[in-house]
Amino acid sequence: MSPSRAARALCPHCGFCCNGVLFGDVRLRPGDVPERLAQLGLGLHGPPGRQRFLQPCSCFDGRLCRIYAERPERCRTFTCSLLQRLQQGRIDLTTARGIVTQAREQWARVLEALRSAGDPAPHLPLHRRVARALAEPLDLADPRAAATRRRLLLAVQRLARTLERHFLAPVRKPRGSQSRP
Ligand code: SF4
Ligand code: SF4
Repeated sequence: MSPSRAARALCPHCGFCCNGVLFGDVRLRPGDVPERLAQLGLGLHGPPGRQRFLQPCSCFDGRLCRIYAERPERCRTFTCSLLQRLQQGRIDLTTARGIVTQAREQWARVLEALRSAGDPAPHLPLHRRVARALAEPLDLADPRAAATRRRLLLAVQRLARTLERHFLAPVRKPRGSQSRP
């Protein structure tokens, strides 16, 4: 499957590299024009030359990138390992979508546990939301609070394992491909 066709078929079902599940923030790169990106609605932070935008990305509509044609350089070059494997024909679309579905169900369980725990910072990327929730004092005399904490930890562990294995693990080069000297 061609790289762009694979991305079109898979990414709208996922969104993890835009919605704060995989990343907390993204640094701009030399080819990016911060003024233009800010004009397009990307919320930039940091001093000139070291600007970054936070995730969940303000240009993500829940399925697609609203500024796709003018998206930052890092977004153009990032391809998670699941998409790489689909592009290389190592897995088929049904399997790839199944993995996304599984990860999204695990993510939903993390969100549900976060809500039960009070979710003190819902606007932050997922790992920081979890860190904030876990940093809240825990009343050990309250069995419901302890159960919620356990549920959150378990849900995070499951999601992290899936992300690590399917989305972030390095992908071997296809057979016969050569490294650029
Ligand atoms: S994490 Fe991978 S599959 Fe998901 S939207 Fe990003 S590139 Fe596409
Ligand atoms: S600019 Fe577009 S591609 Fe980049 S993180 Fe935001 S929504 Fe995703």
